Amino acid sequence: MPKRSSGWWAVGAIVVLAFVLGWVANSTGLFRLLDATAQGGSPTRALDDRDVYYPGSETRARDEMRVIACGTGMPNARPKQAAACWIVELGNGDKFVFDIGLGSAERIAAMKIPYDYLDKLFIGHLHADHIGDLDALWIGGVISNRQRPLRIWGPSGAEEKYGTKYMVERMQEMYAWDMGSRQGNVNTLGLQIEINEFDYTAVNEIIYQENGVTIRTIPAIHALDGPVSFILEWNGLKFAFSSDTYPNKWWMEHTKNSDLAIHECFAPPSIMVGKQRFAVQDALNVATQVHTSPAMFGKVMSEITPRMAVGYHVFNDFDTQPQIVKEVRSTYDGPFELAIDYMVFNVTKDDIRVRMAVVDEDIWPLPSVTDKLAADPADRIGFTDFVSGGRVVFADVVKWYYDQTNQEFGTSFQPPSAEPER
Ligand SMILES: [Zn+2]
Ligand SMILES: [Zn+2]
Repeated sequence: MPKRSSGWWAVGAIVVLAFVLGWVANSTGLFRLLDATAQGGSPTRALDDRDVYYPGSETRARDEMRVIACGTGMPNARPKQAAACWIVELGNGDKFVFDIGLGSAERIAAMKIPYDYLDKLFIGHLHADHIGDLDALWIGGVISNRQRPLRIWGPSGAEEKYGTKYMVERMQEMYAWDMGSRQGNVNTLGLQIEINEFDYTAVNEIIYQENGVTIRTIPAIHALDGPVSFILEWNGLKFAFSSDTYPNKWWMEHTKNSDLAIHECFAPPSIMVGKQRFAVQDALNVATQVHTSPAMFGKVMSEITPRMAVGYHVFNDFDTQPQIVKEVRSTYDGPFELAIDYMVFNVTKDDIRVRMAVVDEDIWPLPSVTDKLAADPADRIGFTDFVSGGRVVFADVVKWYYDQTNQEFGTSFQPPSAEPER
């Protein structure tokens, strides 16, 4: 009976179709959407499968390492990529900054981390693209509520003048006027710097060990004696950061089986000529002798077999990425990301999740984690009579600001001119 048989066919098809549609609706979250819509006309529940990172919005798991790219570019300033800088945040609450290249301070600010926690900086070498925003982290940190000294670890050099201590002390001298100008106007606890210079020839020696975190240094080979790479270990997780280096035996030996291995993956010679406009001879030298080009990076990673290899220190664009990735893939077939600013890695023993951060460009500093201390006006250096004699004082408007502000915050300050003569 053909008629009856085709009826059963129709029923069967409908059952299968309903099953497939149900599976699709469930797996795409459509049911959740319909559920919410039925209750109030529009979805109200947050989606639990968002695939971006909103800074400041996620509790870190106790066993988790979060690594954020705050500078992945080259020494050339550009809006899209700052120069070298990485933040490592650990489940025990500790945070570390590795390199502080040109333009990276604004990326750091976008991570919504109180500056009190951004007090531990490790510098791999003293090229401008790795220290260019040190002043912005240091003095910018002070006016962004860091009320702790900035602690800096960095290598010595073949001569005293090529070491981290020399550089930092000259930076402090360079900012003599800046520091003097802030005295008595803002709390300057954060202007203090603790300099920890260590031997650049030390091989796998511990330079930091606190709160279950161990950081070691190994020599790097790059441009001039002095550069180093770092290895951070915590809770069974191993993070390696090259800063800049030519492939070398110390990296090969000591970063083996890292969970996250970040190594420079510099623009290859053809891109150095084609995009950067270098002379061919210089391009070959810089890309293959001073730095590590993509196919060399691939060789390095094939040797150390990390759970995740991360290349950085290159302009990662629609027209450069295909060639760079192809060259890496000619020598390495393991897990790999070519980093871009705001790439975020959540590393646990079971998983490495890679996402992009979505940042709020209207960022303001977070409060200090300790009570905010006011400056002591007695510390002010002040003006000479010549300069202060030039002031045009709008006493009525200033008084209005004082009155409004006192009313808003329940205080009773008076403008300096209204204070009794000392
Ligand atoms: Zn360098
Ligand atoms: Zn560099």
